[in-house]
Order: sequence, then structure tokens, then C-alpha cells
Amino acid sequence: MPMRFDILTIFPGIFDSYLHESLFKRAQKQRLIAVRAWNIRDFTDDRHQKVDDRPFGGGPGMVLKVQPILAATKKITRVSAKKGKAMRTRTILFSTRGKRLDAAMAKRLAKYDQLVLICGRYEGVDERVAEHIADEEVSIGDYVLSGGELAALVLMEAVSRHIPGFLGKEESLEEINGSFPTYTRPEAFAPRKGGKLWKVPGVLLSGNHQEIEAWRREKGKA
Ligand code: SAM
Repeated sequence: MPMRFDILTIFPGIFDSYLHESLFKRAQKQRLIAVRAWNIRDFTDDRHQKVDDRPFGGGPGMVLKVQPILAATKKITRVSAKKGKAMRTRTILFSTRGKRLDAAMAKRLAKYDQLVLICGRYEGVDERVAEHIADEEVSIGDYVLSGGELAALVLMEAVSRHIPGFLGKEESLEEINGSFPTYTRPEAFAPRKGGKLWKVPGVLLSGNHQEIEAWRREKGKA
């Protein structure tokens, strides 16, 4: 059964291009993953389709309301429950106050059947979403974005790399040996005619796999 990513956003179109290229495109075709972006606006009980309102206590900007987000998460988990097998679902709210996304978190989240990803916008999301709906809050870094959509893409990519088959034959050495400098042809590159050549380290041309591994481990520590 494919791992499900259900994204809650007011800008579902943002995901169109990225999710229909490269590894995501292939993984969806191979049914390794299933991704659906839901428009929060479709779940508001407001007759003007408003999904935000002014913050209590004053202050700038607008805040995303709890009602449409609760309605959407209920619908999403009902849809997946209908598929029979009880899904192990984790609901994530993207927030600047969240736990920082790292490789260990990505690996942990890859074990769920379904991730519901709530993307905030404007001045943020009514805190009752964090208190009563989300299982955890996640930040992708110590800076403020305009919305949670980029965070959702980053998290989906980091998690998907732990799904068997997602990387296919492009098995990434990163997952196996950690990160280290990598080179490709030509062995020596002339940035300008007669200038100093930019050369590939000799050890990588030696064919001596032990030395190469040692060099990569050494460089990977940098
Ligand atoms: N004061 C709000 C807060 O602390 O969340 C800022 C809201 S921000 C302008 C709008 C939305 O973008 C947030 O609700 C969150 O979903 C997302 N966002 C912004 N920065 C983020 C980050 N570093 N990591 C994850 N999500 C972020």
C-alpha cells in the first residue's frame, strides 16, 4: 500500500509542478507513495469561504481558523479509514516553534502509513490546531517562511528517501556513507585556456576502494 501524504493548504496549486517531476512523479506512478493536496477553503463553514480571521488580543495579520482544518483532517482520516486497513497516521503542523526536521525525524516518520501535513499561512494557525489536532509541530529551520508549503515539500522529500524503491537505482551514497565531496568527468578541467587545471583528487582515480572509502570517511567528517 503506498505511503499517503495528505497536505492541507490554501494554495494546493503550489505542489503541482514539484510533485509531477522526477522521483515524486515516478514514485506515484509506481504507487510507492500517494500525494493529495486538499484546499482548506473547501472545508470552511463560512459562507464567504473565509478560512482566516483577525487575531484575538490584536496584532497584525490574519490567523487560519481551527474549524476548516478540523473538518479537513476528519474527512481525510475518514477517507483513508474507508480503505479498510487501519492507517498509522501522524498529523503534522508546520510552525516556526516546531521540532527541527532532521534525518532521524524523517526516518521515524517514514514508518507511518499516512502523514497529514498542515501548512499555515498569514500570521499562523489558531493554536487549538496544535493543541487538539496535530500530533506534532515541525520546523524546517530557524527562519520564517510565508507558508508551510515549502516545509511540506522538504519533509516529504526527506521522508520519501527512506521508502524502499523511492530512490530506485539512483541509490544515494548519502544514505549509505554519509556526505562527502564527489567529482565526475573530466579528470582535469581547464576553466580558461592555458589556466591552472581543476583536478580530481588522485585517490578517486586509483581504483583502490579501501583508500577511496577512507578518503570519503575523512572528508565526510569535515
Ligand atoms: N508567527 C507565525 C509562527 O510563528 O508560526 C509565523 C507564521 S508564518 C508567516 C506562516 C506559516 O508558515 C506558519 O504557520 C508555518 O506553517 C509556516 N512556516 C513559516 N516558517 C516555517 C518554518 N521555519 N518551518 C516550518 N513552517 C514554517
